[in-house]
Amino acid sequence: MSKTFSSILEQSVDKLRSFIPGNGKKKARAYQRREVPRDQHNVSRSVISEPAKKVLSRLNKSGYEAYLVGGGVRDILLGQRPKDFDIATNATPEEVHDLFRNSRLIGRRFRIVHVVFGREIIEVTTFRGNANQADKDSTSDDRKTSEHGQLLRDNVYGNQEEDALRRDFTINALYYCIRDFTVIDFANGIDDLRNRQLRLIGDPETRYREDPVRMLRAIRFAAKLDFDIEPETEAPIRELAPLLTHIPPARLFEEVLKLFSAGHGEATYDLLTRYDLLAPLFPETVKAIEAGEPDELIRQALRNTDARIAQGKSVTPYFLFAAMLWPALQKEWNHRQDNGDPVQPALHGAIGKVIGRQVQATSIPKRFSGPMKEIWELQMRLPRRQGKRAFVTMSHQRFRAAYDFLLVREACGEIKPGLGDWWTEFQRVDERGQERMLSELTNDAPKKRRRRKPAQRPAP
Ligand code: ATP
Ligand code: MG
Repeated sequence: MSKTFSSILEQSVDKLRSFIPGNGKKKARAYQRREVPRDQHNVSRSVISEPAKKVLSRLNKSGYEAYLVGGGVRDILLGQRPKDFDIATNATPEEVHDLFRNSRLIGRRFRIVHVVFGREIIEVTTFRGNANQADKDSTSDDRKTSEHGQLLRDNVYGNQEEDALRRDFTINALYYCIRDFTVIDFANGIDDLRNRQLRLIGDPETRYREDPVRMLRAIRFAAKLDFDIEPETEAPIRELAPLLTHIPPARLFEEVLKLFSAGHGEATYDLLTRYDLLAPLFPETVKAIEAGEPDELIRQALRNTDARIAQGKSVTPYFLFAAMLWPALQKEWNHRQDNGDPVQPALHGAIGKVIGRQVQATSIPKRFSGPMKEIWELQMRLPRRQGKRAFVTMSHQRFRAAYDFLLVREACGEIKPGLGDWWTEFQRVDERGQERMLSELTNDAPKKRRRRKPAQRPAP
């Protein structure tokens, strides 16, 4: 963190005192609003995207307050490139929608506006009001909480300070004002940024109960930013992890993609495992691993994914899910074969069962589950190359992904090396070379290695 922040503690401009939302019973912690002037931070207009600047200035010119907030401010302060830009304003969603022709109102649980500029989407959120109201108002139409304390809907508007305190982490509650170039900090976010700490605003347990996805967000930011999760924020996670089963599968699917496509997939996987958060996302995978299936393929796939992202390449959700569910598939496939099913029907039965169970946790849209099945099925076809088979396999639209998957299986030691190199060569050589390779094939195509024995577990 740059030195410019060292004097920020003393920069108390406004003596507004605020109390943490949802913290009525436990100790109330006072926060002080602080403003960091332009010469003491590194947020400059030049690192903000043109569309984000356009939205900010149009809102300002129309008489509304508008600030850059969230990851956009946090990542710039950390010297990183923001993934996207979020804006907070006192204009209502309808007013924002009226101002921008290229916008759409989205969300029911949480009404926001997307202003669309080609591929860039600017998310504009109206200041949310005091979260304490949630208890009193739990059945109102604008704010609704479940019997577990989960915030089902939050469309009660408020002022900027209230908006700051209903955000998740202190480092996500920093606002940048494009008019006077100040950074406004309501919850000591700058201190936490400097100390590389993730701290929930308010009482952690209440905040996780309001929205269990915040536990996943803690892991995502800890892995992405290489921050520590501050002890009080960390403490309730293991116990509350099962609350994630109350989250709609479609939302969890989106969160899984965010978790594993930020370029720190392996670190994220380790943290999810450490905090018992993998089980609500991939229950069958966790059961399979606990029963002795290795998770090396998952790790290897995530390492490859991280390397791809570092090179600016994209990651396909179906490849990710094919890897994350592989131990579950192996367990089920082996189980069916042990029960006497022939290999092929055992595979098909296992695929159906694993996907059927998974979609109860996270949805998997059909456009991804189809290709995922194909990757798995092709694993059986890749060793069989005689005659025309190699050509038929290679012309399959999922060949490339299946071949990549095979390389991952080899790299992690699940199968012995050789087949991957063969396919690499087969794609490289010309037709005559391919004929030669096929004629040289012996009948001993690489076989799957014998399954490792389940880990020895102490008798209960
Ligand atoms: P990134 O976009 O890099 O993933 P981000 O912090 O911008 O990170 P978004 O999901 O874009 O995350 O959300 C924008 C901001 O909205 C967050 O910084 C945070 O202030 C607030 N926010 C998002 N999700 C939640 C939540 N579940 N609970 C409370 N506040 C949230
Ligand atoms: Mg964001």
